Amino acid sequence: AKDSGRNCYQIYTCAMGVQVEEQAELINALHQAIVQHELELYYQPKVDLGSGRVSGLEALLRWRRPGIGLIPPDSFIPLAEETGLIIPIGEWVLRTACAQAKAWHDAGHPDLIMAVNVSARQFRQQNVPQLVLSALAESGLAARYLELELTESVLMRDRETAVKALRQLKEIGVVLALDDFGTGYSSLSYLKEFSFDVVKIDRSFICDVTTDDGASLARSIIAMAESLHMTTVAEGVETEGQLNFLNTNRCDTMQGYYFSRPLPANEMSALLGAGTRL
Ligand code: C2E
Ligand code: CA
Ligand code: CA
Ligand code: CA
Repeated sequence: AKDSGRNCYQIYTCAMGVQVEEQAELINALHQAIVQHELELYYQPKVDLGSGRVSGLEALLRWRRPGIGLIPPDSFIPLAEETGLIIPIGEWVLRTACAQAKAWHDAGHPDLIMAVNVSARQFRQQNVPQLVLSALAESGLAARYLELELTESVLMRDRETAVKALRQLKEIGVVLALDDFGTGYSSLSYLKEFSFDVVKIDRSFICDVTTDDGASLARSIIAMAESLHMTTVAEGVETEGQLNFLNTNRCDTMQGYYFSRPLPANEMSALLGAGTRL
């Protein structure tokens, strides 16, 4: 028993060593990614159900890692948050998205709203209102064309500071969206208290709308948002069945692979150029 215990211990340290080494390498590579311009934004359209037109875009971060390929944000943003690298990354994302939105406005799409994700940990680490003011001034984008997608976990810790920052953002005039709605510890009072403008119904609910329970859940989220004067966005719309359901139940905006996957800026330009009706 003693022997096997020691073996276990050896295996354990060995594996940990490899992990730590890999982690350090990844941190180093992420550092380089910022300097070497390996980060890219992809854009996914949001379609207004009433008009069928693209009303906005969500900026989604990618890391084009040399020799490896395109890395999705879920696999490096947590590390960026742990190491503080989220600060320069978040700054780059916001400045790039604002500049791109202004370029598309100037190219003949003056009503497009650009949505940017800010995670809860990032929201605590970064002075987001100050950064927003600076990115808007630098790009010349008007505040009402910038939307911030936040999750309710923003309010979980140090609520007072979060509330203050949200108020500042409201004053600046950006659109505030509650992302992944329905997945967290949602309390309806949060929604009322913080006056988000937009509710993004999480993909897991949209996935289920063709079942009876799923349909009634989605209906009640839409009704609740409506009664609080918030706009609804359905995330992850993939099928015509889902589209029809959302249409019938008067969801305002839709986003998902059914319309378009997230696209790099040049492909999005082509799509917008071909007319913004999807
Ligand atoms: P999210 O904000 O909930 O973004 C939606 C995710 O769903 C995106 O994944 C998008 O590509 C994917 N998606 C869109 N339509 C469909 C669909 O019809 N079906 C399915 N199955 N998926 C769909 P992505 O781009 O991998 O982003 C994952 C998460 O990473 C985002 O979730 C967001 O939380 C975070 N993220 C992305 N960009 C940024 C960023 O610039 N900053 C921060 N802090 N977080 C980001
Ligand atoms: Ca989002
Ligand atoms: Ca989401
Ligand atoms: Ca999500």
